[in-house]
Amino acid sequence: MMGRKKKNIAEIDPDSCMHCFECIDICPLNAINDDLAVDGSLCDGCGKCEENCPSVAIELVEIDTT
Ligand code: SF4
Ligand code: SF4
Repeated sequence: MMGRKKKNIAEIDPDSCMHCFECIDICPLNAINDDLAVDGSLCDGCGKCEENCPSVAIELVEIDTT
């Protein structure tokens, strides 16, 4: 069996988010769209959005890419 590939992507908790859109501005890969949805194929898990979210609404979660 091939090894499973994993990576981290950002996940936004809609209940904690206050829609400041800081994360959209700060993401170097434009991985967060205007609806605050993270595109897992673009996000590389750099963590910049998580570090800069004033509501602590973002966490990095590990996903399977296989
Ligand atoms: S930075 Fe945090 S609070 Fe602001 S829009 Fe993004 S997830 Fe929501
Ligand atoms: S972890 Fe990095 S690449 Fe992914 S959405 Fe946040 S700022 Fe963008």
